[in-house]
Order: sequence, then structure tokens, then C-alpha cells
Amino acid sequence: MKTAIFGGTFDPIHNGHLRIASAAMSRWGLGRVLFVPAGKPPHKLGATTADYEHRFRMVELACRGNPEFEPSRLEAGAENSYSIETIEKVRAGLAPGETLYFLIGADAFAEIRTWKRWRDIVDSVEFLVVSRPGHGYEPPPGARIQRMEDINLRYSSSGIRRDLAAGEGTADVPAAVMAYIRVHKLYGAPAGSAGQSAPLKSEGED
Ligand code: ATP
Ligand code: MG
Repeated sequence: MKTAIFGGTFDPIHNGHLRIASAAMSRWGLGRVLFVPAGKPPHKLGATTADYEHRFRMVELACRGNPEFEPSRLEAGAENSYSIETIEKVRAGLAPGETLYFLIGADAFAEIRTWKRWRDIVDSVEFLVVSRPGHGYEPPPGARIQRMEDINLRYSSSGIRRDLAAGEGTADVPAAVMAYIRVHKLYGAPAGSAGQSAPLKSEGED
């Protein structure tokens, strides 16, 4: 069974993350996608983020109903979270020689050379790189990568945080995640009725 790691701040997890994971599953026949919320993302120090436990809980809610999507606490409590450490932990549970996949968006992949021990990362995984509007990348030498270029999703957690802070609803997260955000008053969203959200985006607007 093919295993992929899908790391992120997931602040909050959104429909784009879920659509990418589903598309990758069917495209590459993945049997298991580990959603790994970052403990304390080294690239985002200083950014306002919801606590780890909130972000993890939202990932759990979003993964519910997809048995192949597995919320992972591998970066829980990490002072800083580094992907290489997560990769090593996951690899320890795989058969020797088994390929480990690492699902990542073009924007994050473009910065891979800034990651701690990036050469070890490149040696340890095969990247599944998903396009993202406005982001190109140059793969580092030696990286094994497979590309998915026909995905063009405009969702972003930062856009969602901005909308919520402005008192607007969003249809870009699953209903259960939106309900959680309201109950816990995350991102400056007014408590209001749990299911309330803006009209659904049509496919063509992605
Ligand atoms: P933020 O705006 O806070 O950075 P984000 O939407 O980029 O949030 P992250 O948690 O930072 O979400 O991303 C986790 C992973 O998902 C990264 O590999 C990122 O590239 C990928 N990803 C997120 N949104 C998209 C998207 N719309 N298209 C392609 N990849 C995406
Ligand atoms: Mg991001």
C-alpha cells in the first residue's frame, strides 16, 4: 500500500487540501495519506496561528469519512517541526526499500532548499508535486518527482483567515470545520450559527 505524507500548517485545513489529496490518491493509487499538522512551523514563526490542538481537531473533522486520510500527531508537541524528522518516523514503520511519497504544493516545493536537511529529504522520498496558481518551481538536483499540473485551486488558508477576520463566511472549508471555527471563535470569526457560510463556489471559479 502506497503511503504519502501531506504536511502543512492546516490553519485551517480547507477544501483545496482535501481535493489535492483525493486527486493524488486516484492519480497515483495511494492507499494512505497522512495529514500531518505542523507543531510549530519554522517557516511561519510570528504568524498568528490557531493552536496545534485546534488545527489537529479540524484536520480530524475534515478527514472523517475518508478511511484513506489519516490525521497524524507525529508533529504534536514539537518545539519546531521539521519534515525530515517526520519522514524518518514514518519510514521506520515501512518495509525496507518501500517508496515513501511526499505530497506537496508547488509553492512549498519551490522553497524545499530552505528546509532543514533538505538533501536527506530529497534522498528519502518521492515528491508528488501539485500545481498552484501563480507558483513555479525548479526541482533540486537528484529529486525524484511526479507532477500533477492539471490542478488549479485558488483556496488558501491565509485567504480564509482574512475573510473570517473580516466577518465574512467561507465555503472553502468543510461544514464541520466551519462549525468548529465558530464554536471556538477562531480567526476572529463571530460565533453565530454553526453551519452558516457563503454560497458554494462553482467549479469554474477554482
Ligand atoms: P497559508 O495560506 O496559511 O500558507 P495554505 O493554504 O498554503 O495556507 P498550508 O497548510 O500552508 O495551506 O499548505 C499545506 C500544503 O498544501 C502545502 O504543500 C501547500 O503547497 C499545499 N496547498 C495548499 N493549498 C493549495 C492549493 N490551493 N493548491 C495547491 N497546493 C496547495
Ligand atoms: Mg502555505
